[in-house]
Amino acid sequence: MLPDEPSARLLQPLWDGVVRTLGIDTISHPLFFVLAIITTVLVAGIAFSAVDVFVARKLPFRAAARYLLITLPGYLAVFMLLMWLPAPYRNEVPRTAPSLLALVGGVAVLLVVGDLLSYWWHRLEHASTLIWRHVHSVHHAVRRPLTVWSGFYVHPVESLCVFLTLYIVPFALGVHPLIFAAYAMINTFITMVTHCGYDLPLYPNSVLASAPMHEEHHGGGKPHNFSVLLNLSDRLFGTFKPF
Ligand SMILES: [Zn+2]
Ligand SMILES: [Zn+2]
Repeated sequence: MLPDEPSARLLQPLWDGVVRTLGIDTISHPLFFVLAIITTVLVAGIAFSAVDVFVARKLPFRAAARYLLITLPGYLAVFMLLMWLPAPYRNEVPRTAPSLLALVGGVAVLLVVGDLLSYWWHRLEHASTLIWRHVHSVHHAVRRPLTVWSGFYVHPVESLCVFLTLYIVPFALGVHPLIFAAYAMINTFITMVTHCGYDLPLYPNSVLASAPMHEEHHGGGKPHNFSVLLNLSDRLFGTFKPF
């Protein structure tokens, strides 16, 4: 796609704005996408917590504030560490934005790959007694009602492995930072939705992993619904259970 074609020009103002606002130093950092993850965690976390406390009234205000206060400093500390520590190398920052088609197609492919890799890691966590006992049982011990913060209640080894399954491919391929950031925001949002406890109206339950699906996974009994991004892997490998 040539940069002067209409579809390529569509995202150029957005990309120029991102570069101007964040600066080349931030965007060229190899872990730049972590900024997209943190932003999504905070925005979605605050929005869902507001619904939990003031609309659904399933969580006292103090509990929601405590979750935020535990999560916020940790994420900010990680971000500052990443940005202030000297990066071993810098990525070249492209001048042109990807075309809209490249953005949508790229995010879709990354979601499929991320779903496949995280699905098989999750299946291994349930199949291996050793990994279940020492790692994944921590997440399944999370108390109900599930909230957007429940997804972060995991063993550090699980945190690292899930991070790798979701991000190693776009990282290794060096995808355009705008595509990488969009993918990071969308997959972070989906993993938060799966723990939010609400069957959201207009949410594409038939394509994306959803809260009712994941509630079933947390429900005990023979585990189904291992996918945390799409329904695809569960449907492909026979573990999809309609809710
Ligand atoms: Zn599980
Ligand atoms: Zn879960």
